[in-house]
Amino acid sequence: MTALPPCPKCNSEYTYEDGDQLVCPECAHEWKAGENADGGDDARVIKDSVGNLLQDGDTITVIKDLKVKGSSLVVKVGTKVKNIRLVDGDHDIDCKIDGIGAMKLKSEFVRKV
Ligand SMILES: [Zn+2]
Repeated sequence: MTALPPCPKCNSEYTYEDGDQLVCPECAHEWKAGENADGGDDARVIKDSVGNLLQDGDTITVIKDLKVKGSSLVVKVGTKVKNIRLVDGDHDIDCKIDGIGAMKLKSEFVRKV
């Protein structure tokens, strides 16, 4: 038998399984195993090109010239991008770049400042 994780709300260790759910008898919180208390978003880990953990609001620089889809613009290597937002998908960074506007980047082509 495997040990059940503690309650993500009150940290009680007396959690039990109920079908595919976990239940906390102390605060009556119910959640799915492997899911995080506030929806699971925090469980996603996005790293930059050198393995630094990226978070919403971080500042990054672009490590490679990137063509902007549907235009002739290029985001030059070394471009600083402030206040990124992590999103789901192939391009996992949502941001606004001076002179270009809103666009999406891949975390593998950036580096945290
Ligand atoms: Zn609890």
